[in-house]
Amino acid sequence: MASAIEIRDLTKSYGDVRALDGVDLDVPEGSFFGLLGPNGAGKTTFINILVGLVRKTGGEASVFGYDVEDDYREARDRIGLAPQEFNVDRFFPIREVLEHKAGYHGIPHDEAAERADEVLKRVGIYDKRDTRFDWLSGGMKRRFMLARALITDPDLLILDEPTAGVDVQLRHELWETIVDLNDSGTTILLTTHYIEEAERLCDEVAILDSGSVVEVASPEELMDRGTDDIVVQLRD
Ligand code: ATP
Repeated sequence: MASAIEIRDLTKSYGDVRALDGVDLDVPEGSFFGLLGPNGAGKTTFINILVGLVRKTGGEASVFGYDVEDDYREARDRIGLAPQEFNVDRFFPIREVLEHKAGYHGIPHDEAAERADEVLKRVGIYDKRDTRFDWLSGGMKRRFMLARALITDPDLLILDEPTAGVDVQLRHELWETIVDLNDSGTTILLTTHYIEEAERLCDEVAILDSGSVVEVASPEELMDRGTDDIVVQLRD
């Protein structure tokens, strides 16, 4: 199967800190792929390289065959990112924020408005469209981050701890939305600290530890292989 993400010998250093140390990884198109690892393992650095926020030190990284640095625009337009932190313009109605984002990606105004409504409905916060981000509840903010990632109708959706700090009911609702997206063909790369989340959702999981991939397996295989001790560390 073709790869949505192809990574060869990827390294990243911040001064003396080796955040990624020779990562090789293939994420198949259409898969639901988990990236697990303790704090500081390099997950966010890995994601930031994919979306062009951080420059790699060495190696190769491509998305749907496009080099993330040399073919930045082609690669970036295929990716939707829901980052961990709420890096959102807080003072505008959320519908407007989505329209701006769509405009930034070259989507014409009329279509942008339609798309904004569509993604707000998809994540269940259409009735809040005229509310500014600051005034949403924590759970709605998480839903909004997903809506924003979907505005360009991406082929690869990257979710960095999308259910961090949300209650059980909302976590299940978000899971349902994400699984529907995967069922309709979107490749998903998910980072999480919740082992249950990886077991429930992912076809395959890579464990990143101190900047290196130490395992790639299905969640069930990981359990059978006794990778439980690594996994237990992730529960922090
Ligand atoms: P977490 O689960 O806590 O978010 P992570 O797996 O996402 O962690 P990264 O944030 O990628 O890990 O960090 C990997 C390593 O790189 C850590 O040692 C971190 O301190 C370091 N690091 C990350 N960003 C920078 C930076 N801008 N400057 C210096 N060091 C950095």
